[in-house]
Amino acid sequence: MKFITYSINNKEHLGILSLDGTRVCEINAFLDTRFTDMTQLITEISDSELDLIAKKLETASESDGLPVTEVVLKAPIPYPIRPLFCLGKNYIDHALETKGLPGSDDEVPKHPIFFMKIAQPATATGDIIPNHRAITDMVDYEVELAVVIGKDGIDITKEDSLEHIFGYTIVNDISARNLQRKHSQWFKGKSLEGFSPMGPCIVHKSAFTHPLALKITCDVNGQRRQDSNTENLLFDIPTIIEELSKGMYLRAGDIILTGTPAGVGLGFTPFKFLKSGDKITCQIEGIGTLENTFE
Ligand code: MG
Repeated sequence: MKFITYSINNKEHLGILSLDGTRVCEINAFLDTRFTDMTQLITEISDSELDLIAKKLETASESDGLPVTEVVLKAPIPYPIRPLFCLGKNYIDHALETKGLPGSDDEVPKHPIFFMKIAQPATATGDIIPNHRAITDMVDYEVELAVVIGKDGIDITKEDSLEHIFGYTIVNDISARNLQRKHSQWFKGKSLEGFSPMGPCIVHKSAFTHPLALKITCDVNGQRRQDSNTENLLFDIPTIIEELSKGMYLRAGDIILTGTPAGVGLGFTPFKFLKSGDKITCQIEGIGTLENTFE
């Protein structure tokens, strides 16, 4: 089940994609329900409603809904309830490629590195990423698997972690490297307007076998830069949820970025930061393609 937020004539809707991904049905018409935004849907949708969606998708006809090409895709959660929770250096090859650079610690982390970034709003696939040229010329890309929390919880154990997940999406953790360094903590350099492309959809967890082993890639202008698999996460998703929720509530609708593999612009000599007009294509197996152009 692939959930999307889309607009027609500037009016926002919640939708579900057909099994072949070519058509979209409005959730409220499909289910005869009352959801007004994705966070509410994630929080309130019942198991029986999810079962009903799955059944209806199997029997949907080619005339149900609208062609995806006739709607404007938004980020699946355009205004997350809280900033995005993020992991730093959570693929060993990425920790090693940034080792020794100014502002980088020298070792692979022994504990998850947590930080947050603002996404208000998250940027849709197809939208422009602003260049913020007045304050940075070191803008970088980071493809990441993002976990969408589906159920509130505190002190969640690894064993119970899957129960608290709704599904998964892709986020490109756009980063101004000079600002990350200048301000010591990473928050500011990662929170500029438009720096959180998200999408194209949220895939319900039932679509996958766990633990996840999904191909994850990022291309810039068709050239492969990042190429890995989510099974290479240094701290896996159950560990992330257990550690992050110790003494702290995770809420339905929260989004956790699980880190990026090697191949970011900062990892090259000389650096390969984004240039005006660059097209960044992030893909994760089973989720889809998140593509944006740099202003
Ligand atoms: Mg990142």
